[in-house]
Amino acid sequence: GVVTRFAPSPTGFLHIGGARTALFNWLFARHHGGKFLLRIEDTDRARSTQPAIDAILDGMRWLGLDWDGDAVHQFARAGRHAEVAAQLLATGHAYKCYATPEELAALREEQRAAGRPIRYDGRWRDRDPAEAPEGAPFVVRLKAPREGATTIADRVQGDVTVQNAEIDDFVLLRSDGTPTYMLAVVVDDHDMGVTHIIRGDDHLNNAFRQLPVIRAMGWAEPAYAHIPLIHGSDGAKLSKRHGALGVDAYRDEMGILAEALDNYLLRLGWGHGDAEIISRAQAIEWFDLAGVGKSPSRFDLKKLENLNGHYIREADDARLTDLVAGRLGFALTDGQRALLQRSMSFLKPRAANLLDLADGAQFLFRRRPLEMDDDAANLLGGDAPTLLARIHDALAALADWNAAAAEAAVRSVAEAEGVKLGAVAQPLRAALTGRKTSPGIFDVLDLLGREESLGRIADRMV
Ligand code: GLU
Repeated sequence: GVVTRFAPSPTGFLHIGGARTALFNWLFARHHGGKFLLRIEDTDRARSTQPAIDAILDGMRWLGLDWDGDAVHQFARAGRHAEVAAQLLATGHAYKCYATPEELAALREEQRAAGRPIRYDGRWRDRDPAEAPEGAPFVVRLKAPREGATTIADRVQGDVTVQNAEIDDFVLLRSDGTPTYMLAVVVDDHDMGVTHIIRGDDHLNNAFRQLPVIRAMGWAEPAYAHIPLIHGSDGAKLSKRHGALGVDAYRDEMGILAEALDNYLLRLGWGHGDAEIISRAQAIEWFDLAGVGKSPSRFDLKKLENLNGHYIREADDARLTDLVAGRLGFALTDGQRALLQRSMSFLKPRAANLLDLADGAQFLFRRRPLEMDDDAANLLGGDAPTLLARIHDALAALADWNAAAAEAAVRSVAEAEGVKLGAVAQPLRAALTGRKTSPGIFDVLDLLGREESLGRIADRMV
């Protein structure tokens, strides 16, 4: 069966590119009824941190990218990596290199001066280790093939060929016995039974070094799919400069829903006809590597916000209420919570994110007399107080308080005064919400209820 993996290095947050890689691996595994594994590549001890691991796991859980089994921690497997290096030594696929750092620095200097590629020259490849001084430190290097070429039939990039002469005898085991990243990845992928390696195309070059190790061990070769990186709107590789943030920032600071980010990331580099809104179930059914584009996709915040608006309108009101309640900055009573939930259907149509919802709901919980923003204050001058007094009287006379009854009352005031509905609705909105924009004014009256509505209007009648 299919086995994929996501192998983040925990040196920072789960960024948008990593999340997309994880999503593609997850979808590919789920599509094939296979397994999706997680490996924390924490071999860089200086830069790997627990908060980064936590942020990655948290981001994956939020995006619904559940992994099978326990996460594998690469550093803990160093012994196994060394074992494989020993095996490669024993079978003659690797050798001990005793070149000193000074010697290698001189070699690099020589190559640089001659304008040649900087590359280890294989000086210990065929040399007898007995020639090394007693107890001298050594690294273990792969005896990489020198003749011919290696072709990878990449599922996204197509056939990619590299001349073997270009691949040096790179280090598998450092002189302190620790494995290099290149060795660790290959051993872990094999031991985890990974069948498909789906990752950013910044790793395509690595594949040409990893494959000879796989072949030297006689292991099954995985299928490779190197997906183009995400670029910013200016076409350059996405970076912090473009506002490339951790997924937690999309959730916390931008109020994006997980399903919106998933849908957006899916469409960023993968397509199925012209489908834009794609449910999780549909994505699992449709996902394939053939649909991954060959050129980098551009990150488009506007598109993400449009998708987010769609998913907000689709979202269950109780769930949105939970998400918005946490953003209001104060604890809600049960009554306020119910009011917030009732307001969702009126706030959703204009919201692109949870911040919009929270902001739009503020007026419900403000205390009288309401603070007016400048636009609202401007609507309350002139004969607004007189109009509001008329509206107050008409509304106060209502037997039943609901949107339809309120509308009839407000319309009758406009008619009696010989003005358009807007002329009375505008100051009314300002009085009720302190803003120039809000949900429909009759819905606002309904939500606030008789007492609060009449109170807020009365505050502006003088
Ligand atoms: N740890 C690598 C990274 O975070 C991924 C390695 C791989 O997928 O093979 O870029």
